[in-house]
Amino acid sequence: MINYGRQYIDSDDVKAVLRVLKSDWLTQGPKIEKFEKALSKKFGAKYCCAVANGTAALHLTGIGLGWKPKDIVITSPISFLASANCIVYSGATPDFADIDEKNYTIDPNKLEKKIKYYLNRNKKVKAIVATDFAGNPCDWQALKQVSYKYDIQLVNDNCHALGAHYKKDKFYAPKFADVVTQSYHPVKNITTGEGGAVLSNNDEFSKKIKILRSHGIERKLKNKNSKQGSWFYEMNEIGYNYRITDFQCALGISQLAKLEKFVKKRNYLANIYNNYFQEVDIFQIPEVQKKSKHAFHIYPLLINFEKINLTKNILFEKMLNYNIKLQVHYIPIHLQPYYKKYYGFKKGDFPIAEKFYDREITLPIHFSLKENQVYKIVKSMKKIIL
Ligand SMILES: *Cc1c(COP(=O)(O)O)cnc(C)c1O
Repeated sequence: MINYGRQYIDSDDVKAVLRVLKSDWLTQGPKIEKFEKALSKKFGAKYCCAVANGTAALHLTGIGLGWKPKDIVITSPISFLASANCIVYSGATPDFADIDEKNYTIDPNKLEKKIKYYLNRNKKVKAIVATDFAGNPCDWQALKQVSYKYDIQLVNDNCHALGAHYKKDKFYAPKFADVVTQSYHPVKNITTGEGGAVLSNNDEFSKKIKILRSHGIERKLKNKNSKQGSWFYEMNEIGYNYRITDFQCALGISQLAKLEKFVKKRNYLANIYNNYFQEVDIFQIPEVQKKSKHAFHIYPLLINFEKINLTKNILFEKMLNYNIKLQVHYIPIHLQPYYKKYYGFKKGDFPIAEKFYDREITLPIHFSLKENQVYKIVKSMKKIIL
């Protein structure tokens, strides 16, 4: 069965993990800081805090940025649930701005409209969580302008875009956003099994996140002359156990060294898809912005099902007969029963996202996928659709 995503683990990865398994530290040891330093360097952030998963990274981000009930935080309806759920965790109110028709990320104009809508009602938007969907960077210049103009925090849910460049800049993520969150789940561009990180250039924020990662425990004495013993610890804020283990971080360090290679292969395979599907007008291929580099965490293909005698469901079934498992990313978040029930969203609220969902299928793309498998996928699609 060909799946949409899969990890790639080589013998160096295995050796790195085994070394840690035989060492003194399985967790809370030296590999964590090493991984954090490597991530900081790779993505151009001053500070990094590695955590249990990408969702924990988003949760801690919301707390660290001080989101509170009555705050409004806006994200994209086309993202993984966690991009919106982290807003709910903090007690703030989630809202959405529709996506751009071409690059499928949050539309800065729609976003500004939404901010003005709230301003007119004497409400202020606290933060924006923008996802570099599929591995394609958002329009970060425009988003930054909006965040300056209205004094709004900017978060990059960067989980898809490990290895992407925005306008030739591989360090774009922490440059434009106040906080960057990543995930290293096995389908992402590098993996630690479960795992994630929060990156930023803000010293105070980063220190806070590190304390919250482990129950809110602080071991440093505020007063150096205090007579407290070496066992002393104190808790000032409620935290969590969102730690990542040392063997996961060892895997992460080893995987991170292969990121460019991984993204290169993903781009190579995406090009094969592009070359074929751009020839046929019922398909819309992912747009790559000028001077930017797509990281192709996924390959979203839009199909105008109205023009062919086929539903998405039947296409999925027929592809399964060829042992190819398609996916969809994503069902618009505002259409989830929870968001409808508690926040009153309904069908029609974000029409571009909804149309995107009607048309989108995710084709398999990952490092160990072979060129001939991609040709098989293309040919099978051709047989079924055309
Ligand atoms: C994967 C992902 C997450 C969550 O990461 P986990 O490590 O699975 O918790 C959040 N946002 C986006 C956009 C993702 O793709």
